[in-house]
Amino acid sequence: MKITSIRTAVVEANYDWTFVRIEADNGITGLGECFFAPGLTAMIRDLQVAILGEDPRNIDRLVRRLQRAASGAGSVSGIVHNAITGIEAALLDLVGKCYGIPIWQLIGGKHRDEVRMYADCHGGSGLESYGPALDPREPEWYREAKAREMPCDPLDPAIWAERARQAVARGFDALKFDLDCDAVPMEGQLRALSTVEIERMAERVAAVREAVGSSVDLALDCHWRYSLPDVVRIARALEPYGIFWLEDPLPPTNPRSFRTLRESSAVPLCTGENLFLRHGFRELIETQSVHIVSPDLQKTGGLLEARRIADHADMYDLLVAPHCIASSIGTMASVHFCAAIPNFAVLEFHGQDVPFWEEILTGLPKPLIRNGRIRVPEGPGLGAELNEAVARRYAKAGEGFFSS
Ligand code: MG
Repeated sequence: MKITSIRTAVVEANYDWTFVRIEADNGITGLGECFFAPGLTAMIRDLQVAILGEDPRNIDRLVRRLQRAASGAGSVSGIVHNAITGIEAALLDLVGKCYGIPIWQLIGGKHRDEVRMYADCHGGSGLESYGPALDPREPEWYREAKAREMPCDPLDPAIWAERARQAVARGFDALKFDLDCDAVPMEGQLRALSTVEIERMAERVAAVREAVGSSVDLALDCHWRYSLPDVVRIARALEPYGIFWLEDPLPPTNPRSFRTLRESSAVPLCTGENLFLRHGFRELIETQSVHIVSPDLQKTGGLLEARRIADHADMYDLLVAPHCIASSIGTMASVHFCAAIPNFAVLEFHGQDVPFWEEILTGLPKPLIRNGRIRVPEGPGLGAELNEAVARRYAKAGEGFFSS
């Protein structure tokens, strides 16, 4: 069996959902999804020469070839792995179909039949759409949804409480909110927080806790915006509310800062969505500087590499809660991974406000998420396919649609 083509399609959703389709000479195809990045489809086009004509079943060898192909450009970490990760997912789908077994079987078998999801509730409105440089944009579906939306203040505790109640009413028992919901997306400097701002953060969290009770798990995301002294104050202020985890209080590049924070507060810490390969996680895991790691399975280096990260974390008694802002296609690849690892906590659902998040997938019973859980697919490969008619409706202008 030989790989004959690697093609991409991009859907302009809350982010650029970037799909990779790989075809083999026996007509079997595999579908994967990459985390967005500037220049992503051009990168995939340029990288394909490393694996065209190769046997798609030698997945690990092919991933190494792709890493080697990008080594001059710098493949120790970074967005080249967004491309490689989507390609690897497509290879896993293709090989699973070839042998008639699901991806979870290829990566070690399953520990569970259902995967618990948490609803990302943002803060205030969750309706958003960003280009590959996190530039806010307004595709047609976004403008239509915006016109129907009630204006709201993202700093109002009552708005947070209402978002939480709505998610719990839909069946979720784990939620995440953005503590930095007032931030400007493209601003990158650390901002010093006043005592009043931290008190207000705690008020919003208290409002959510009061609205949903203690049976709902509650995670909070900082997106690396604050200084170490401020996140120590934030963590301590949140201690009374039984937080599931505090996510990315600091950049993941400084395990020592995480360790200081961990020793300063009882709130569990989580990071990993911006780390690549097992090497990126090594120090954080081996020093137990966080309690939970959150690799992004559309960018971290592939599902096989993520399996190694999870096993490494397991050896240090840490949980894995994968980050996921993908379409339902990428989310389903993540579901296979979550079924296969022993130390799984919960998987992110980031599509509450995208009207076609579920519609873009075909081949599985809907709704995909019932009672806050996704049933692990039993069909070959991914166990689902892209609904091309829907994907074409929202296709990004200027990008090919699985064309050569
Ligand atoms: Mg995050």
